[in-house]
Amino acid sequence: MKQSNNPLKYRYHVFRGKLVQPFFWALCFLSPVLDIFRVDMVQQHLVFLGKPLPFTFEHLKWLPIGFYGAVILIGIISFIWGRLFCGWACPHNTLTEWTRPLRAMVGLAPKPRWMKLILRERPSFRFLFMALSPLMAIGLTFALSLLLSFYIVAPQWVIQQYASGHPHIALIFGHGLFVLIGLFLLFVGNDFCRTCCPYGLAQSISAYHEDSPWRPLEIQFHGNKTEKTESCKTCTACQTVCPVDIDPRDTGALKVGQFDGCFNCGECIDACKYIHSFKSQAGLLSFKNPGFKEKKPKNQTTRPVP
Ligand code: SF4
Ligand code: SF4
Repeated sequence: MKQSNNPLKYRYHVFRGKLVQPFFWALCFLSPVLDIFRVDMVQQHLVFLGKPLPFTFEHLKWLPIGFYGAVILIGIISFIWGRLFCGWACPHNTLTEWTRPLRAMVGLAPKPRWMKLILRERPSFRFLFMALSPLMAIGLTFALSLLLSFYIVAPQWVIQQYASGHPHIALIFGHGLFVLIGLFLLFVGNDFCRTCCPYGLAQSISAYHEDSPWRPLEIQFHGNKTEKTESCKTCTACQTVCPVDIDPRDTGALKVGQFDGCFNCGECIDACKYIHSFKSQAGLLSFKNPGFKEKKPKNQTTRPVP
């Protein structure tokens, strides 16, 4: 296997995520602004694809049908592809990735290169970053709380309320509560996905027996499992890039039924493939779905990496 000059070859999952995630994020947060779907509790009508529909059983019945339809669809996706929804589409996870610099500013995440360079030139900026991070986080979570409130009240009404200087108490309470929850989620980061996300927990509870052929998609390590340090020498690239800080070589930690938090983003596969491309070898990680046809990387060997 020769090293390719095409960066997409080694960053496929990363680029795919970067393209798909903004689409689902925009669908979730911009639907009411673009009148794709919202409920107007003040005027008492639904808006669907720009059309106002009155509050009648005929139209309201689509609310629970749509909700349960989405739950069933996500359930089917989870059954086959595990937590793929989290890695590809979950707006919370997307925001968590986008807001990593805010956590890095207060030492809750590794600092990106640009931040390290700034701090090397001006170490006193550390205090500026620590002050800016919560201020930016409050601004961001308030803006998101506004966007989400447009699902139940018209954007114009909300803006008029704040412009009047005497916003409705329900708005202040609702937005204040969301900002508090949003700040918690923002600074907890992916630890939330791994430990207390209700969707992740539900999937864990409903997981199948380890020996069952009907297990969802998971990561497979092709190196020496008992001597993984020998297979990988001093490399820890896959664990370093993992957004939820899992060691994908530790297949024991990735058993379905144990709440490992892996959401099949595939970034560890990209990292391993890239590192091995310098040795003209295939990576040691791939996706595996025991319930379906197993996919192995081309030219895969299980010999230790020299
Ligand atoms: S183990 Fe790999 S696929 Fe799973 S979350 Fe981490 S980087 Fe993504
Ligand atoms: S990236 Fe590949 S070689 Fe490096 S530690 Fe992970 S599995 Fe081993």
